[in-house]
Amino acid sequence: MRVLVTGGAGYVGSVSVERLVEAGHDVVILDDLTTGHRESVPPVVSLEVGSYGAADELARLLERACVDAILHCAARSLVGESVRDPARYYRDNVSGGIVLLEAARQAEVGRIVFSSSAAVYGVPDTTPITEDAPLRPINPYGETKRTFEAALRFYGDAYGLRSVALRYFNVAGATDDNGELHDPETHLIPNVLRAAETGEPITLFGADYPTPDGTCIRDYIHVADLADAHLAALEATAPDDPRTDTALVCNLGIGEGFSVRQVVDAAATVVGRPIPETMGPRRAGDPPVLVAAADRAREVLGWTAARPTLDAMIGSAWAWRRANLDETGARRE
Ligand code: UDP
Repeated sequence: MRVLVTGGAGYVGSVSVERLVEAGHDVVILDDLTTGHRESVPPVVSLEVGSYGAADELARLLERACVDAILHCAARSLVGESVRDPARYYRDNVSGGIVLLEAARQAEVGRIVFSSSAAVYGVPDTTPITEDAPLRPINPYGETKRTFEAALRFYGDAYGLRSVALRYFNVAGATDDNGELHDPETHLIPNVLRAAETGEPITLFGADYPTPDGTCIRDYIHVADLADAHLAALEATAPDDPRTDTALVCNLGIGEGFSVRQVVDAAATVVGRPIPETMGPRRAGDPPVLVAAADRAREVLGWTAARPTLDAMIGSAWAWRRANLDETGARRE
């Protein structure tokens, strides 16, 4: 199949592109490179530098590229930034997303897989969180993901669009070629590894949560497992596949949680020395525990996480950083 991957030069997008190419699919990437990296694009893949929200360019691209399906990974994805500047999130994630759906409808591309987020749940009443839990996002980022998911559902009912929304929990790890490099970096594992590299302590955001060791618990999933799930989801959007007769939504996590403390300890084992740390206050908006019920992805997509350990996730992230980043955490020339 020929797949347009928006955000294909970013962290999740680039690993998904690797997986699609490996499975023999043709890939076209659309990425504006604001947070993506040109170096992540493999030679066999064509890169269009541009925005999925630019209607005319997108229409021309879809006409030219003859794609069968879209993997929509591109988005603004920083929770804190979304609170400070919601306009940017509504503009890109919602308005831009609708431009993409309209262009797809025009070009008769009826299959889409969407990178959604556990942020759509907000603070859950119970854990593990099933896909049927109420959607009560507590920040504009989660709200814009929820809004786009709803558009997929209604476009499906009215126009026959086949879609899978994948609600990511905490994505981590790397392949040999692609890893996580954001600026600024807000995520725990890259920040822990940067502390190991630079000696600058990582700040742990609170140890007074109602959890066994007082730090927050999250469900971490290896980015390569996530990429496998994207492939399975794209296959589920095939015409006549009953799994997407109505819009399908699946959590992507491993169904098990690790605390911030466990992550820091596991990282110390991986790098072979203690991680410098300081304790800070809680970060606003952090729920104590977020763990996925991961049964639906397993049962419906036939997907399982093949690398469900902190060792595999942190070990691969560390190996990638050592091969690609210098001692300040910047990408080597
Ligand atoms: N965290 C931390 N220090 C950091 C970054 C994150 O203590 O520098 C904590 C954060 O408060 C949360 C967990 O690590 O409890 C995972 O945060 P991350 O930003 O990686 O993902 P989120 O769960 O917010 O999507």
